[in-house]
Amino acid sequence: MDKDMSYGDDYKFIPATSKQSGISIEVLPDLFVHTVQIVNIVFYSYPNSDDFVLIDAGMPSSADAIIIAAEKKFGENARPKAIILTHGHFDHVGAVIELVRHWKVPVYAHSLELPYLTGEIDYPEADPSSDSGLVAKMSPMFPNEAVNLTGYIEELPLNGTVPYMEEFQWIHTPGHSPGHVSLFRERDGALIVGDAFVTVKQESLYKVFTQEKEMNGPPKYFTTDWALAFDSVKKLAALKPAIAITGHGLPMSGEELTQNLKRLADNFEEMAIPNKGKYVNKENE
Ligand SMILES: [Zn+2]
Ligand SMILES: [Zn+2]
Repeated sequence: MDKDMSYGDDYKFIPATSKQSGISIEVLPDLFVHTVQIVNIVFYSYPNSDDFVLIDAGMPSSADAIIIAAEKKFGENARPKAIILTHGHFDHVGAVIELVRHWKVPVYAHSLELPYLTGEIDYPEADPSSDSGLVAKMSPMFPNEAVNLTGYIEELPLNGTVPYMEEFQWIHTPGHSPGHVSLFRERDGALIVGDAFVTVKQESLYKVFTQEKEMNGPPKYFTTDWALAFDSVKKLAALKPAIAITGHGLPMSGEELTQNLKRLADNFEEMAIPNKGKYVNKENE
């Protein structure tokens, strides 16, 4: 079955990194964020056991590093119950095929993201004109072709539950991509954001390297529907999360998160939407 899995033809290692790369942070007793070069993956661990779920799948060529990080945390031959994808951009599925082959676990994503995860539809190309930062300028080299996970990819349950993550619900947060989801746990306000908003200026190579904490909208070069992206930020702000783990940047919590997320929701046009770009038409918004 797995002979059908394949990356897009433009799949390649991307030589960009940050000083957090390879570092794990315990955000909550059951949630760990681990940085792979310039993107975060999340380990959700079960209480009193070595079982876990992986959220997102890192950068191209990072499978060995992810397996080592998982085994370091959960023991030799540790294997997750499943992989949950916030969305299918290359930096969130970069190692997914090797991980699925190694672990033989199902992968879950929103139904609207499935065409991009079954090789049917490629993402639009990244837009270097969306920002003056160097990551935006290098974004045309980022893979945008769909990965094909046919045989392993499954749709998230329609009732909003997240497989193997009992108290979490998935929240549809489109705009950055059509089937983008964030994962929320009401009990303690834990939010796994994906790229609906991020806590680093992801378009800037320097700020990505230093991981300077700064509230931002979704990475500009890959965001194609800014009206939906705005709605998604408002939706997440209304949940009043206590802790946010974003796809890029350091975790943010408490008053710092509350105030910055409100500021982003109140000033999304100025703070997040590019002044110009392929996917922007500010005059009509
Ligand atoms: Zn993305
Ligand atoms: Zn991303």
